[in-house]
Amino acid sequence: MVDISPSKVLLGLRTFKVVKCPRCGFIQITTASRNVRCFGCGFSWSLEPDLILFSSPDSEKARSFLLRLKRGEDAKFRRASEAD
Ligand SMILES: [Zn+2]
Repeated sequence: MVDISPSKVLLGLRTFKVVKCPRCGFIQITTASRNVRCFGCGFSWSLEPDLILFSSPDSEKARSFLLRLKRGEDAKFRRASEAD
C-alpha cells in the first residue's frame, strides 16, 4: 500500500502560471514555483504575485489565457502603429 496524504497530493500538483518577465516583458507559461528563466532574454527572476498574470492547475486554461493575451497585445500594437 502506498500512503499518499492529501497534502502530498497537493504539493505534487503542478500549477501552470502565465508570467511576465520583469526585464523584457516576455510572456510565457511556467510551472516553476520560485525562479523563472525567461525564454525571451534568458534573465532568471523570482516569482512575485505581481508578475503572475494567471495561474491554474489546468494547462489548457493557462495556454488559452496566454493566446488571448498575445492576440490582445498584437491588436494594441497594430493600433498604436497605425495612429503613429
Ligand atoms: Zn525577459
